[in-house]
Amino acid sequence: MSAEIYMIGSSSKGNSCLIRNGNDLFLIDAGLSAKRICSAVRSVGYDISSVRCILLTHEHSDHTAGLDVLYHSMRVPVYAPSPCFPDLSRSSPCAYPFLISGDPGDVIILDDTRIYPVKTPHDAIGSVGFRISFGSEEFAYFTDIGHLSEQVVRAMSGCRRVVIESNYDPDLLENGPYPPPLKRRIAGPNGHLSNPDCAGLLPHLVSHGTEKIMLAHLSEHNNTPEIARDTALARLDRPDRVCVASPSEVVAF
Ligand SMILES: [Zn+2]
Ligand SMILES: [Zn+2]
Repeated sequence: MSAEIYMIGSSSKGNSCLIRNGNDLFLIDAGLSAKRICSAVRSVGYDISSVRCILLTHEHSDHTAGLDVLYHSMRVPVYAPSPCFPDLSRSSPCAYPFLISGDPGDVIILDDTRIYPVKTPHDAIGSVGFRISFGSEEFAYFTDIGHLSEQVVRAMSGCRRVVIESNYDPDLLENGPYPPPLKRRIAGPNGHLSNPDCAGLLPHLVSHGTEKIMLAHLSEHNNTPEIARDTALARLDRPDRVCVASPSEVVAF
């Protein structure tokens, strides 16, 4: 049976994803309130007490806002990029650190799942995405990527299911309300991935075996689900391959 993947919520305001594979039940990121994460986990038939660990991509609050409360009720291992830990432990003093280097060869082994963290170009203290092997299937989870580095593209290639950032529409960003320095940060090489840059990679992924793509981490102000989806579909001939994560609803993938 293939692994179950539920995007609990994903946008520039908060991100969390629940994964079940055989004996393994774990979260990627905890950027929504603990209450919302717990009720989302319940809504898909699991109990938060069965979650075995939390993986963090980086320390930004849209990925960690619920961590402190969750950690204090769950007391499960938290895996995070090692440079983030001093910052995280200031807000979550009891966080139980399992450090991720993101260097080649770094791997987290659960019962039935192997997780390979991969460094991502993003303006965090430390930042990774994940290629995850469920045994018979490979899955990729990459948000908060300023550009498509060679390492990130290699990690995504060959994965059957891919969660990839499609953060902003360049015209909406350019003409939107953000101050110029923030616009430059978002569009910079260590900011976020635009819809066209995301879409440009999709034919490559499909030609390397990707069957399903979830567009994630959409900006609330500089994007819409319709624009992100249309930009992606303009580069693909199969609309059924693409879905868009919701900021507030659980989406099964
Ligand atoms: Zn970030
Ligand atoms: Zn983020």
